[in-house]
Formats: sequence, C-alpha cells, structure tokens
Amino acid sequence: MEHIVIIGNGIAGITAARHIRKKSDKNITVISAETDYFFSRTALMYVFMGHMKFEHTQPYENWFWKKNQIDLVKGYVTKVDHQNKELHLKDSQPIKYDTLIIATGSKPNKFGWPGQDLEGVQGLYSKQDLDALEANAPNNKVCRRAVIVGGGLIGIEMAEMLRSRKVPVTFLVRENSFWNAVLPTGESQMLNEHILEHHIDLRLNTNLGEILADENGRVRAVAIKETGEEIPCDMVGLTAGVSPNINFLKDSGIELARGVKVNRYLETNIPDIYAIGDCSEQHEPIGNRRPIEAVWYTGRMMGETVAQTICGNKTGYKPGHWFNSAKFLDIEYQTYGWVFAKGPARKDFEQHFHWRHPKEKICITMAFHKETKQFLGINTFGIRMRHEIFDRWLTEERDVNHVMEYLKDANFDPELYAQYESEIVSKYNSEFGTSINPQKKSWKRIFSNA
Ligand SMILES: Cc1cc2nc3c(=O)[nH]c(=O)nc-3n(C[C@H](O)[C@H](O)[C@H](O)COP(=O)(O)OP(=O)(O)OC[C@H]3O[C@@H](n4cnc5c(N)ncnc54)[C@H](O)[C@@H]3O)c2cc1C
Repeated sequence: MEHIVIIGNGIAGITAARHIRKKSDKNITVISAETDYFFSRTALMYVFMGHMKFEHTQPYENWFWKKNQIDLVKGYVTKVDHQNKELHLKDSQPIKYDTLIIATGSKPNKFGWPGQDLEGVQGLYSKQDLDALEANAPNNKVCRRAVIVGGGLIGIEMAEMLRSRKVPVTFLVRENSFWNAVLPTGESQMLNEHILEHHIDLRLNTNLGEILADENGRVRAVAIKETGEEIPCDMVGLTAGVSPNINFLKDSGIELARGVKVNRYLETNIPDIYAIGDCSEQHEPIGNRRPIEAVWYTGRMMGETVAQTICGNKTGYKPGHWFNSAKFLDIEYQTYGWVFAKGPARKDFEQHFHWRHPKEKICITMAFHKETKQFLGINTFGIRMRHEIFDRWLTEERDVNHVMEYLKDANFDPELYAQYESEIVSKYNSEFGTSINPQKKSWKRIFSNA
C-alpha cells in the first residue's frame, strides 16, 4: 500500500491527511515537532487571554486519528533523502515514503539584531511560543514592560494579549503609520489612533537597534536605532513578519527560493514531493496574490487540492477571489478583492472611495477602476460584510455604482452591525456627482445567483 508522509500537522498538512483518508485507504503518517495533535494556531491568543483552554483549540478529539488510521509521529525531520525516498529524524529511526507532502509552515523573522536570542526575547507562532509568553509575562504583574518589534497582524495580537494582563507595551513600528504597506492611509491612521487609545506606546518611524542583556543574560532593555534611547523592559516580542520554515531542506535537491517552489498542482521539482500551506511558493503568482500566502484558509485549500491530485484526480490550485479577515484589538477587519495601499502594487487606474464614521472607529475603503468603474475590492473596519455577496459581485465584474446601490444586501447582520449605507452612499454621491439611491435589503437577491 502506498505510504503518504506529511511533514507538518498544521491546517495544510492535516487537511491533506483528512481528505486523502476520505478518498482512499492509503497509509498516512503525519510528522510534527510541535505538538502531538493539530490545533488552531489562530486561537493561541485566546488561550493566553483566558477565553479558552489550549485543549479547546483542538478541533478533533484525540481518538479521531487512530480511528481514521492516520499515524501521528512526534519528531523533527532533519533531512529529506529523495533518492532513497527516506526522511531522517532528529531522535528516531528514518521513515520511508512513497509520496511526501511538505507542510512545515512559517517561522518568525529575525533580522540579526544584537541580542535577538537572549532570554526573554521571543516570537509568537508556536505552542512553545505561547508557553514562553506565559513564562515571560505571567499573570501577576511581574513583567514591568514588553517591547514588541514589528507592526503587523501578529504584533498587534501580541500587544492585545499583553494588555489583557495590564502589561505596559511599547510597540516599535518601522513605517510612518501602522501596517501602511497593506492598508490605505485613512485606515492605517485610524488604527494608529486606536492603538494609542488602548494605552499602547506606539512608536512610528522607529527601528530596533539592539536588545540589551542583564548580568544573567536576560533582556533588560532595548535601544532604539535612531536615537539610542534605552527602553527598560522584561521581554521583547519579535513580530516582524514570518518566512517559510524550510531550512532543513537546504541541499535536499528540492528547489527552494523563499519557500518550496511549486507549480499550480503544488508539485515540487522532485517527483512525488509536494508542498502546501505557508511554506510553499508558487513559481508564478496567481493574479494579484503573493507567491507565498501565509493565511489559514489558503493552507486548507491547498490541503484539499493536493489530496485530490494524490488520490488520482489531478487538480490545480485555484483559490478564487482574495479575501481575508482579522482583528485589530476590538475592531473587526475584512477585505474582499484588492484594495492596495500606495506603493508599487497599486495600479494607476485604481481609484479609492473612503468613508469614516464621524465618531466611532468604523470605516470602509472601496477600490474601483477609474475609467470603467469596475469594482475591484473593499476593506471594512467595524462593519461585517457577507463574503458570498462580494465574491459574486467580483465574479460578475459589477461596477462600483451597482455595489453602492445594493450595499445593504452585503451587510452581514443588521441587528448586530448598525447600517451606515445611507451615509456611505450619500458621501459617495457628493464626491462623484452620482445620484444613487440605496436599495432596501432583499433576501431574495441575496440567496439568488441571478
Ligand atoms: C498568532 C497567529 C495568529 C494568526 N491569525 C491568523 C488569522 O487570523 N487568519 C489567518 O488567515 N491566518 C492567521 N495566522 C496564520 C495562519 O495561522 C497560518 O497561515 C497557518 O497556520 C499555516 O498553516 P500551515 O499548515 O501551512 O503551517 P503551520 O501551522 O505552521 O504548521 C506547520 C507545522 O510543521 C511543523 N514543522 C516544521 N518543520 C518541521 C520539521 N522539519 N519536522 C517536523 N515538523 C516540522 C511545525 O512545527 C508546525 O507544527 C496566524 C498565525 C499566527 C502565528
């Protein structure tokens, strides 16, 4: 019987294992160095904040794997020997495979800062990082200050986690506004304000120079690169992005760039070896997507896709329209289609319409084609929208006026999320000289594909 071995028990590897099992009786082994069982990485913050226990982040009961004949091996793969179709592990016997799926995810970036490996300096990625954070910022106010380096989604999560325990936080952000490589100016500025209002000491245009040690080799302060200012602290969070966790594949003969290079079928250059999830890198990006997509749902999609191919139904990876969601402290963020910040990715034809609530931290930005008016995408903060409606409008290549007219259909739950469509449309009308009348919400329209 063919033996499928998967390195990595994250969302990508586990989805592949589950779908291969659904479709076949092949032997399946999943190897991971991190935890015995699959857990939801995106829920780590809620464990720290006391909203759930770690066990609750595991979507499957522990008996599930045995019952479904998926062998789980705890171990670290040090080498892939593709000529002998064999994996070498750190502290155990080699494992033979017929088909290999590499799903080893990401690791937090470290840019060679002096002091980056001191005690008390950590990333936020793994279960081990959660345990380290529990030790570095225990729930009894012994952490006098934490400094977080790098202003992205994981940085703000870490800040929220630490603030939930009243730890004073200084947040060093290299850019002149929070996450402005991704977010247009209005949104990024709104988040700057929000972060400060949550008593986080946000330092824009600020780079880490050095992490300073005490006499025991533990962090005692950071020094700012630009000014030399020393900020005393008991821990440092390194959250300056992630990159594929593939160092163990160096010299394996598998083609690597930043990630493991794959084609649309998620095949590497070596027969019978595939790569999926955060660690994989498309030869050619798909549409506007990045060649490496470090998000949860694309890992799941790649897992499903590779399972099809391995079970005899060769299938290309087609992720559809881009979407994503996240939370910035208590503000929900969603994005559908493409809304680019100023920068090289933004095309000349991309025009933006921005609306912000006069008092609350609620806003939207819509992108559309300057000439054809084709709707290109939307970012929303503090308003939850219906994914299927925007997905449909993007597929139908609707124009922005249509989106404005039927915006109420896209509002997720008017009972929970107040409706601001009239204000949004009236601002749009006055800016663009239109006279659009927002239509009433229609469930018939929402659930029909017409
Ligand atoms: C704190 C946090 C919050 C996040 N929030 C969101 C969110 O809200 N929305 C979203 O879309 N995405 C979010 N992400 C990103 C998302 O979690 C990842 O995109 C996703 O988990 C990647 O899944 P994966 O299966 O590719 O890899 P991973 O989940 O990283 O799993 C890979 C596994 O392989 C193991 N491994 C690696 N190398 C080896 C080896 N040599 N031998 C054995 N085992 C190995 C690793 O230890 C790990 O267990 C978040 C990430 C973090 C860290």
